[in-house]
Amino acid sequence: EGNEKLVTGFLQVFRNYVRILDESERDTLTGLLNRRTFDRNIGHLLSQARMNAAMDGAQGKSRREDIRAQSRWLAVLDVDHFKRVNDKFGHIYGDEVLILLAGIMRKVFRERDKLFRFGGEEFVAALEPTDAQGARTVLERLRETVASYEFPQVGQVTISIGYVRISSQDVPATVVGHADEALYYAKQHGRNQVCSYEALVSENKIAP
Ligand code: GH3
Ligand code: MG
Ligand code: MG
Repeated sequence: EGNEKLVTGFLQVFRNYVRILDESERDTLTGLLNRRTFDRNIGHLLSQARMNAAMDGAQGKSRREDIRAQSRWLAVLDVDHFKRVNDKFGHIYGDEVLILLAGIMRKVFRERDKLFRFGGEEFVAALEPTDAQGARTVLERLRETVASYEFPQVGQVTISIGYVRISSQDVPATVVGHADEALYYAKQHGRNQVCSYEALVSENKIAP
């Protein structure tokens, strides 16, 4: 009887503790992971890429190619002309767009992909290992799903996406920086599109 009370009390404290931890990891508007959590996790993602590269060196050729094809990817996405949404419909409708967009992201990405609200109307997705085609496909699907969604009152909203393969030589600033460069290119070339950093470099559209 006394023990039971103790256990119940302890569980309550523990539950509260877990809830507080969870809340501090997440953005309060959208429920996605927050910027602070990203900063804490990015080092881990990069060390996983380094571990894969080390295994790569220890394996035979076919295995090596296999691992190289499957990489993690980092995508930065930003709402197009979001300032106009706020200006025309007000901040509340702007917030509603961000909440609905986060919901679409949750549906389109896989459960194990990590989704962050990076700040303002900018989001980051860290994709679990997949090949170049897999990354492209999911990001295109997200772009299309958002573009064809009817946002209450606001109507059509589009997003632009820049993304990059997370490689073993990267440091956090270069990964985000390269995805940002690809995003910037998408913004400068019509918006509502998905741009790959690797592809832009190999097509000489941006300097490495
Ligand atoms: P671009 O296509 O170049 O990205 O244009 P933009 O208008 O989206 O870009 P800009 O960075 O000029 O404007 C972003 C706007 O996002 C400015 C700010 O009012 C709005 N914003 C940032 N955070 C929030 C938020 O939490 N809620 C709402 N409603 N608006 C936000
Ligand atoms: Mg924007
Ligand atoms: Mg922005």
